[in-house]
Amino acid sequence: MSTHFDLCVVGGGIIGAGIAQAAAINGISTVIVEKRGWGAGNSSKSGKLIGSGLEDITPFKFMHARERLAERRILTSIAPDLVETNWFYLPIYQHSPSKPWFVTLQLAVHDGLSRHDSLPRHKRIPEQNWRELSGLNQYNLCAVYALQDTQTDDAQLTQEVLRSAKHHGAMALCPVTFNGAAKTEDGYRVQVTKGSRSRAFDCRFLVNAAGAWSDQVNQTIDSLGQLPRTELIKSTYIEFREPLSEQRFYVDGQTKGHRIAIMPWRGGTLVGGAERIFSGSPDRVETSMADVDYLTNAVRYHFPHFRHNPCDAWSGLRATPLSGSRANARERRLLILESARYLGVYGAQFGSYRIVAEKAVTEINRILHDQSEQIRDRPYISTASISI
Ligand SMILES: Cc1cc2nc3c(=O)[nH]c(=O)nc-3n(C[C@H](O)[C@H](O)[C@H](O)COP(=O)(O)OP(=O)(O)OC[C@H]3O[C@@H](n4cnc5c(N)ncnc54)[C@H](O)[C@@H]3O)c2cc1C
Repeated sequence: MSTHFDLCVVGGGIIGAGIAQAAAINGISTVIVEKRGWGAGNSSKSGKLIGSGLEDITPFKFMHARERLAERRILTSIAPDLVETNWFYLPIYQHSPSKPWFVTLQLAVHDGLSRHDSLPRHKRIPEQNWRELSGLNQYNLCAVYALQDTQTDDAQLTQEVLRSAKHHGAMALCPVTFNGAAKTEDGYRVQVTKGSRSRAFDCRFLVNAAGAWSDQVNQTIDSLGQLPRTELIKSTYIEFREPLSEQRFYVDGQTKGHRIAIMPWRGGTLVGGAERIFSGSPDRVETSMADVDYLTNAVRYHFPHFRHNPCDAWSGLRATPLSGSRANARERRLLILESARYLGVYGAQFGSYRIVAEKAVTEINRILHDQSEQIRDRPYISTASISI
């Protein structure tokens, strides 16, 4: 094995895999280390939605929504076998926190932002057709909208991106644990272990893509100083063995402004997510009965005939984007310490992995630029044109 790399990426979730892929394609010699399995962290526990970005259509998150829709379009073209677009129905009741005029406005903006897609625009379902919506509760129902949204198999997409990274020359080590890095004149000396065996290699740049484990990883890296700590959000999904419907729904949860997705999944039904702040070790995330009940009650309210109990439930963690003085207001997902040759990724959504990786690699290229003419002279190759 080579013992000198331009870049070492810690964490083999979708973000680490995406960065390794973008770096390798652009001629940066890359090693990526993952301690459990490719995508075994939160990248196999997501809601599987690439995301319409509907919840981001507020004045403060407008750019985010635009980005998610653009990424949806790109992923649909580069990974057509792994990404599926369907209608999602959005019922609005008299007591719903979102009023029909507001949802109409959100959907009109959404249509405007996705005008470059070939997808149909949103529609309002006429009242006489509400009975065709899989037993949806009609009491106090005042409007039903439908919009196009995109689903994927998150674990499989992560593995395919990783496969592409390897194909373009990245070295992928798993199960290998990153134990720490000591600063050297030209970057870092990285210590890893595989089982009881330790080894070391050198890299010129370090990326922390360890998701919920980022703070733990930071504590083992020399000379980073005091970094902002991340806040972890726990999100829970439940699964029913029984199919509820071939149709997909976004329904309101009891918490104001919170929407729950209900969709077919592997012959049964997937419902999520219930979110709350998490403190504790990311290795010990437990699903609470309160979250399972919250989601089960939402299903029972909206589909009173569906009286089944969930057969499985799981929770995952996502780190929130950074805030505070060291975070760039426009790109709160990347923490770049140029002199330390370190980049951390915080709170990137699954569906935004490609654009986050592209931004990260552009920065890494710029920072390594002066040192490597070989890298500098190559035009940047975007992963938007690489099929996976
Ligand atoms: C329940 C839930 C639902 C979600 N739903 C959606 C959704 O519908 N759409 C969406 O876009 N996003 C969604 N998200 C967010 C999305 O899943 C995550 O933001 C994304 O998967 C994070 O990817 P990641 O690569 O940063 O982290 P992870 O996938 O967690 O990867 C980090 C990796 O680092 C590894 N690691 C940690 N420490 C070390 C070490 N010392 N050495 C080596 N490896 C290490 C871990 O084993 C892990 O595999 C959801 C999140 C959750 C929790």
